[in-house]
Amino acid sequence: VPHPRLSGNALERQLAGQRERRPASPLLSLVVPVFNEEESIDLFLDTVVPLMERDGFRFEIVFVNDGSRDNTLAHLLDRGALDRRLRIVNLSRNFGKEAALTAGIDHARGDVIVPMDIDLQDPPELIEPFMARWREGYDIVYGVRTQRASDTAAKRLSANWFYRVFNTMSPVRIPENVGDFRLVDRRAVQVLRQLPERNRFMKGLFAWVGFNAVGVPYERPPRAAGSSKFNLWRLWNFALDGVVSFSTAPLRAWFYVGVVIAAIAVLYALFIVTRVLIFGIDTPGYASLLIAVLLMGAIQLLSLGIIGEYLGRLFLEVKGRPIYVVEGVYENGDVQAPKS
Ligand code: UDP
Ligand code: MG
Repeated sequence: VPHPRLSGNALERQLAGQRERRPASPLLSLVVPVFNEEESIDLFLDTVVPLMERDGFRFEIVFVNDGSRDNTLAHLLDRGALDRRLRIVNLSRNFGKEAALTAGIDHARGDVIVPMDIDLQDPPELIEPFMARWREGYDIVYGVRTQRASDTAAKRLSANWFYRVFNTMSPVRIPENVGDFRLVDRRAVQVLRQLPERNRFMKGLFAWVGFNAVGVPYERPPRAAGSSKFNLWRLWNFALDGVVSFSTAPLRAWFYVGVVIAAIAVLYALFIVTRVLIFGIDTPGYASLLIAVLLMGAIQLLSLGIIGEYLGRLFLEVKGRPIYVVEGVYENGDVQAPKS
């Protein structure tokens, strides 16, 4: 379990300050992105709602329908018509889980927000211990997967590698084996909502926000119904997005490649010039030509690397497209004007 950023007195003082500000009866927003999940909705609601009621939480559930092609929306609307605590944000098409989560967080009104998967792989029983830690003054409480028995060996291995590579290259460290399942206080949500980037690598963004975070260990169960929406290719692209949006190391690497090649070129040049001086010219013009070609190649790589450093950053931001498009927000079965 990762350690909090602060410890001892400094931490205790900050926690005490936050503790004082905690409302007596906070509103809890569960944010649930859904994509082709018609089989999972009933099971999710029939598990989570009674549990929330048993623990006496004031809560709302914000579903984000991420362009499902099955009956997910109709099903959600049916259930929503019966329960005023459900809100359904319907996106105009599939934007991906990260964008859907962003939409849900933007539409949640709670004092605390808990992003959850609908497949019950994020155990709702954990919300009670999450809330306990939040009342102690922590702003972010995340679930830490103690063992990933429900994952394949390949997924475990690749996840391990991902955390290692990411945390080596990125200045912002993300805790290992932590998914999106966590409790986030309103003040962290406010910071998160100010982050303008289009590329929403949520784990990274949550870590970037900072504040006092603490982990609660849990065992991740297998999916309750339906099937995983992430195949190997999607996971690979997800990992790539994560690294590229939090680290410029891959761009910068070319600079060092350029430096190394330039050094080799200089050494080789010395070698050829010396050889020509000692043994005379073997092929006229050959030595100078080769030196020029190598040196120019190295310089080009070097400068391309520098240009890439700036271009990569600009490209992501300059397009400025919205992160998601809302088709409508549905509450109590009726249609409302889309919120921005
Ligand atoms: N999901 C989504 N949009 C997508 C893919 C997935 O909203 O494009 C949702 C999905 O419905 C589920 C959650 O993201 O609630 C996690 O997906 P899944 O369980 O398939 O991921 P895994 O647990 O296999 O990593
Ligand atoms: Mg899942």
